[in-house]
Amino acid sequence: MSDFPAGSVWLVGAGPGDPELLTRKAERLISLASVVFHDALVGPGVLALASGAARLVHVGKRSGRHSLDQASIDRMIVAAALAGERVVRLKGGDPAIFGRATEELTACRAAGITVRICPGVTAASAAAAALGASLTLRGTARRLTFVTAHVRAGDTLDLDWRGLADGQATLAVYMGKASAGRLAAELIAAGLPGETPVAMVENASLPDERVFATRLDLLPLAARTALGDGPALLLIGEAMKTTGPAPHRNATLCRQSHSD
Ligand code: SAH
Repeated sequence: MSDFPAGSVWLVGAGPGDPELLTRKAERLISLASVVFHDALVGPGVLALASGAARLVHVGKRSGRHSLDQASIDRMIVAAALAGERVVRLKGGDPAIFGRATEELTACRAAGITVRICPGVTAASAAAAALGASLTLRGTARRLTFVTAHVRAGDTLDLDWRGLADGQATLAVYMGKASAGRLAAELIAAGLPGETPVAMVENASLPDERVFATRLDLLPLAARTALGDGPALLLIGEAMKTTGPAPHRNATLCRQSHSD
C-alpha cells in the first residue's frame, strides 16, 4: 500500500466498461480504496471489485443529466482525502482524455493532497477493437485526432474544421452523437469527401456493444436512427474502410446501396 497511503487520491481509468480491460494496477487500487467516487459510465462489473467495506459514491454525469457540478465533485474528493480516506476517483476510459482530470488534480494539489493518475483504455481503442480495425493505417491515416464534440447548452460547436478535415487522419469523436449533423456538414464544407468512411461504436466492450458502418454524408441520419442511449464513439477517416465483419457482434450496417 506504499503507493496508496490514507489521505491520498488516485484518478483511476476504469476503461470502456469490460472489467477485463482494467489494468492490474487499477484493479488493485479499486480493491484498496475506502471510498470510490465514480462516473455514470463506470459499469457494475468494475465497481464489484471494490471492497465490501468501501463506500461507492455515484457522482455521474451523462450528457444532459448532470447530477453534480464539477466543483462539488472536487470538494467531495478533497474532503474525503482530508478525512484520511483512501480515495479512488474512477473515471470511464482514460482519466486524462476528456475526463476533467485537471480540475480534480488542481483541487487536490491546492489542498496539499497527494494525487496520482492510473491510466485506462480509452473508448477509441475499445471501439477499434470492436470493429476489428486499426485507427492508423500506413500511408493513409498518419494522424489520429481525439476530439470532443460536446457543447454546453446554448453554445455552438466551434472547432478548427479546416484542421480536422484531413483526409490522412482518423478522427475519433467523443461525445459526438448529438452534434453528428453539424460535424458532418462542417467537415464536408471544409473539404472532406462525403463518402469518407465512418464507424459508430456504441457501448464498446460491453455485452450490448453495437457497431455501424456509414459514410460522412449519411452520418447525421445514421446517428439519429441507429444509435441508442449508450455512449457512442464516432470514427471518421479512410482507415475505417477496413473494418472487419465483427461476426461475434450484433453488427448492423447502414451503408448506402451504392457503396459496398
Ligand atoms: N475518459 C473517457 C472519455 C470520457 S467522455 C475515455 O477515455 O474513454 C465520454 C464519451 O466517451 C462518451 O460520450 C463516448 O463518446 C465515449 N465513450 C466512453 N465509453 C464508451 C464506450 N464504452 N463505447 C463507446 N464510446 C464510449
